[in-house]
Amino acid sequence: MSLPIATPSSKRPAATNSCRVCAPLGSVLAFRGLRGCMPLIHGSQGCATYIRRYLISHFREPMDVASTSFDESATIFGGQSNLAAAIKNLVTQYRPEVIGVCTTCLAETIGEDTEGILREITTEDPSLPPIIHVATPSFKGCQYRGFHETVAAVLNTVAKGGKPMSHVNLLPGPVSPADLRHLREIVEAFNLPLLMLPDYSETLDGPSLATYAPIPEGGVSLAEVADAGRATATLQLGATLEPGPGAGLQRDFGVPLVKAGLPIGVRATDAVLDSLAALARGSASRSSDLDSVVPSWLSAERGRLVDAYVDGHKYVSGKRVAVVGDPDLAVAVAGFCAEIGLIPVLVASGALTHRMASSLEALGLAPGAFEVMEDADYDSIQRRVVELKPDLVLGPSKAYPMTRALGIPLVRIGFPVHDRIGAGRILHLGYRGTQRLFDEVANALLTHQQDSSEMGYAYQ
Ligand code: SF4
Repeated sequence: MSLPIATPSSKRPAATNSCRVCAPLGSVLAFRGLRGCMPLIHGSQGCATYIRRYLISHFREPMDVASTSFDESATIFGGQSNLAAAIKNLVTQYRPEVIGVCTTCLAETIGEDTEGILREITTEDPSLPPIIHVATPSFKGCQYRGFHETVAAVLNTVAKGGKPMSHVNLLPGPVSPADLRHLREIVEAFNLPLLMLPDYSETLDGPSLATYAPIPEGGVSLAEVADAGRATATLQLGATLEPGPGAGLQRDFGVPLVKAGLPIGVRATDAVLDSLAALARGSASRSSDLDSVVPSWLSAERGRLVDAYVDGHKYVSGKRVAVVGDPDLAVAVAGFCAEIGLIPVLVASGALTHRMASSLEALGLAPGAFEVMEDADYDSIQRRVVELKPDLVLGPSKAYPMTRALGIPLVRIGFPVHDRIGAGRILHLGYRGTQRLFDEVANALLTHQQDSSEMGYAYQ
């Protein structure tokens, strides 16, 4: 079914159908990966409600997020008393091990000295749990920035140096709980002790409980994060991150920083495993002797994936694709698409990094063969999609109205996925996640072909 599509004006005063969500949402997501952490949003109640609703609809988990609930008076005179009262209330009600304070546009617009206020509050009451503060006004960036700045703030506040330890820090970026679980499985298969920050693999995809847990079990503890400055190395995932939150550990404690793109596709996963193999040998240098270190189950998954590529290439080869998502996810997925013979014609994100195009070129995509849109909204993405005529879109569920209107399939990836269940269990990473993605892409194209054909399907 093909529905009429709106042709928006090229002169628009504001984003239409935004492709980005708030910076404090990314911050709350990262804080959810700290054990015993209660996120507290410093600003108006509406921001917190919106963020809760977005996260609940994606993860389908309870989402207690506190707010300092600015009213008119706090907006004019500052929210110091609101912040003090909120901290007191949530300590009484939730007994958190740590409080993560992120700010909204409102608090930052009035010039609130949140850091100074928190210093006063903690000086007055030393019995309070540790408080980590990060400034996350959405006018300076979206959830992608809020997430990474929060990881950097946690490391800057908590990590300490000292006698070197044998573990590896893994900074995975804003991936799904299923991705986090798989990354842990991969790193531990190399016999590398792991400190993963954040780790919301359980807090945002936990079991059903008889008794409600306002702060869910799971996450990395502050004591563990304190050891980040003593790690063998930091593996930071995300092709567009420059320098990224791991840079502070290198600067302050000399922890070597190893950067890699998200492991989606055979080549990208090989690269991450190569880095892990080098770390497992006690060296940060790359080695060509990868096979001797890679666990056999990973080699088997790689072999099955390559076999699937061979089986399915005739269904995907030469098809045009548009990718929408967080910068690092969009870049990695576009790289995977090129690897399997799809033609990425558009790679778009609501975030602004200025590094997506160069990251795609570094993956071997020919300059000029694809379009990149940063700081995009769905209105502008839709206009380019109408022109570029992809056969398929990979992106969040907010791309669905566009693909429905154009009559092309959508493979759901990233955040938010509000119109399907299981968003937290979408596995994007590793050979296993790539396998799932490849099957889904090939089957989406096959389904579309069958649905568009008069004959449908017949097997004689
Ligand atoms: S005011 Fe800022 S932080 Fe609050 S919902 Fe709007 S964009 Fe997000």
